[in-house]
Amino acid sequence: QAAFRSDLARLLELVGTGKESLSFMKKRIRHLAQQWLRAARRLEQKLKGRQRDQKHILVHIGFLTEESGDVFSPRVLKGGPLGEMVQWADILAALFLLGHSLRVTVSLKELQRCRVRVIDTFGTEPAYNHEEYATLRGFRTNWGYWNLHPSQFMTMFPHTPDNSFMGFVSEELNKTERQLIKSNKVGSMAVVYGKEASIWKPQGKERFLAILNKYMEIHGTVYYETQRPPEVPAFVKNHGLLPQHEFQQLLRKAKLFIGFGFPYEGPAPLEAIANGCVFLQARFNPPHSSLNHEFFRGKPTSREVSSQHPYAEDFIGKPHVWTVDYNNSEEFEAAIKAIMRTQVEPYLPYEYTCEGMLERIHAYIQHQDFCTTTSPPPPPRAKSPAMQSPPSVLALSPNATHLVWSPSASRDPRAWPPVDSLQVWVSETRHACTETCRRHGLVCEPTFFRFLNKKEVFLQLSITCDSTEYEMNHLYPAVAENVHECYLQKEPLLFSCAGHNSKYRRLCPCRDYREGQVALCRDCV
Ligand code: UDP
Repeated sequence: QAAFRSDLARLLELVGTGKESLSFMKKRIRHLAQQWLRAARRLEQKLKGRQRDQKHILVHIGFLTEESGDVFSPRVLKGGPLGEMVQWADILAALFLLGHSLRVTVSLKELQRCRVRVIDTFGTEPAYNHEEYATLRGFRTNWGYWNLHPSQFMTMFPHTPDNSFMGFVSEELNKTERQLIKSNKVGSMAVVYGKEASIWKPQGKERFLAILNKYMEIHGTVYYETQRPPEVPAFVKNHGLLPQHEFQQLLRKAKLFIGFGFPYEGPAPLEAIANGCVFLQARFNPPHSSLNHEFFRGKPTSREVSSQHPYAEDFIGKPHVWTVDYNNSEEFEAAIKAIMRTQVEPYLPYEYTCEGMLERIHAYIQHQDFCTTTSPPPPPRAKSPAMQSPPSVLALSPNATHLVWSPSASRDPRAWPPVDSLQVWVSETRHACTETCRRHGLVCEPTFFRFLNKKEVFLQLSITCDSTEYEMNHLYPAVAENVHECYLQKEPLLFSCAGHNSKYRRLCPCRDYREGQVALCRDCV
């Protein structure tokens, strides 16, 4: 049984020394310690002594190893990426507080053969993970093709539910701090997102910067050595790269946090929103993806990134997040004016609080099982007996457009997530299952694909199949509607919430989720 810990001192010893990156992580753990401890106490009460197995976990911080070149550590104090370190610090804190036995390594020599979870910021979709399929079908990239179970990859944001959403945390405010922030906000102060001078460089920024400068005092936290970076205009008050807690203080005063399009999907916008800022960002039209943008090229995902921070856009939105076309000066100026008139409260989604992260990781550790192999789908049969008597496990919903799990069906109490949260929806040809479920207020749940990968499910959905084939394709089960061809998935590793093709309507397994904790269904903890 794992026992919640009530002190982080031992963890700080475990993390080790000798690298700027490790110092950054330890500073962060120390700074957030009280917040973590309070959250751990709350979760402990919530779980009321429920069985939690203690695990031995080797935390191998791969990107900091000498063998990988450790390009991050030397850049910690120079405006390099910090998001990864934020996340690793939080993972360490969460695993430790949950009471697991940890070993932390930053050397390849100490990496042992073990059951892995991979911390993977942008995610790895099933089509890119399956080596044979990726090679055959042109999904082979620099990363990926590891043949892992896709949920062994753990991401920074909930990109595709094929991977597990790991996340990180942001600072939480108590009542007094909220009051203080409210009274100290400077309504005309904007902070620009980004620590590297290069983000100011590309052309076209002068126009919207001039507009912004008409209304607001612009602040930056751009790293510089001795001289002001020439890319940053003279009217910008540049503070240089700040220690993390000082950066938070700056956000507490500012009204607006504004993104210039890069970096993508970091922690800073969530911190800004948590400190009562409005986040303004550019809409990407067309969206950025591995097909059209250098940054995403070679990344094992087909995701189309519609703005600098799609999570902020889709999961938070107005009044905290404004996503506008920066090429349209009128739209941009109107947004600035509207933002200046809007009052916003500090806001942090539950999944980015310490309690939310602890709860999620607890659920993964307790329930995710990568050891029992998924049973292969039944062999194709010309005449399935189920064609005559449809299975009792799926029942038509009252409006007969989709299927819901029948509560009377026998259920496996160990199944996780519990199967009674399943609803089956058929996608439009232009939508992936991720999007299809989202449009019904649900989330795609890849572990449920195995329940729909059956001939009789097409019948239940009143889909006519002139033929039904088992094939390896990450879009299956699906139907090519105009030719009445139905397809089932031959390779369970390829079950994928991501992906669409104009030829197919996909069968999508959707489930409910908890408000502010999309990784978990209502009965999932
Ligand atoms: N940050 C910081 N000092 C600054 C600006 C940002 O410590 O002057 C921190 C910020 O608190 C955030 C982290 O840098 O947690 C990573 O921020 P970002 O969203 O820019 O992601 P990155 O591109 O660094 O991964």
